[in-house]
Amino acid sequence: MRDILVAGNWKMNGDSASNSALLAGILAGMPDSERVRLLVCPPFPYLAATAHQVTGSRLALGAQTASEHAAGAYTGEVSVAMLADIGCEYVIVGHSERRSLFGESSSAVATKFEAVTAAGLTPILCVGESLDEREAGATESIIGEQLDAVLQQVGVAGLSNAVIAYEPVWAIGTGKTATPEQAQQVHRYIREKIAALDADIAAKILLLYGGSVKGDNAAGLFSMPDIDGGLIGGASLQADDFLAIANAAASI
Ligand code: PEP
Repeated sequence: MRDILVAGNWKMNGDSASNSALLAGILAGMPDSERVRLLVCPPFPYLAATAHQVTGSRLALGAQTASEHAAGAYTGEVSVAMLADIGCEYVIVGHSERRSLFGESSSAVATKFEAVTAAGLTPILCVGESLDEREAGATESIIGEQLDAVLQQVGVAGLSNAVIAYEPVWAIGTGKTATPEQAQQVHRYIREKIAALDADIAAKILLLYGGSVKGDNAAGLFSMPDIDGGLIGGASLQADDFLAIANAAASI
């Protein structure tokens, strides 16, 4: 039986009252399964309150990004040490919105990845191709380049406490999900690429799929041999929707 991780990326949504209600709903309905790990990634201002609300539960806390710098004159940035200090265990790095809207290059993403692992937190590295890239048959080369940037920075050993999320850009927030077979093909490519460097790390690393995962398509995706859970955007904003995905994970 594999571990499955279901991570909610709330993006820039919610306020104190709605977040508290959402968390209460998730906490009340979490599947009673040691195998299924649940994680929420609220916006920065709500991390501390969320940490407080999830204390003593099995719901883990993550951030949506972090600075690659340790401390100092970086106005507006948040360091990994600060995230660790308030109870974050995970940090998403290289989400496609960070890459496309905020100009994060693969090398900047790799530096962030290294900062997260150096602090003892778990990075969730997002990789994925655009629709044009898929249609041009470039999916694997794009994913390969995104992974290589991180591998060059930290080496394969740097993946030993990491999660990778395959998120095809054309499936994020669009309602168009990759089929389980399409996702599995890329996940297998990722695992084999890592296995060529270290079979043990490849076997253990969790590979999440993200892109319009919902309660009704989650089981099909998570049943694939190389899909170890999901990174969930829209459906993580309602407790019932998120729990439907968590329950699908528990049913595998
Ligand atoms: C995401 O934000 O990473 C994501 C996959 O969003 P959605 O589930 O809404 O497609």
